[in-house]
Amino acid sequence: MAVQQNKVSKSRRNNRRAHDALVAANPNECPNCGELKRPHHVCSACGHYADREVVAMVDEVDLDEDAA
Ligand SMILES: [Zn+2]
Repeated sequence: MAVQQNKVSKSRRNNRRAHDALVAANPNECPNCGELKRPHHVCSACGHYADREVVAMVDEVDLDEDAA
């Protein structure tokens, strides 16, 4: 087992963790439906990316359909 040679002081530990804070997401508004979406990602609400539909949205997916 690795054993540390020197105790890390509270100050040094906390200084190391000073950059660990999470930053808030920066969502954009979808130009098609106005829903908030991640930048440079397909809109999860309408499947559009840059004014064109790239993912066809289905209202309801029947999972049993493929099994039969
Ligand atoms: Zn959208």
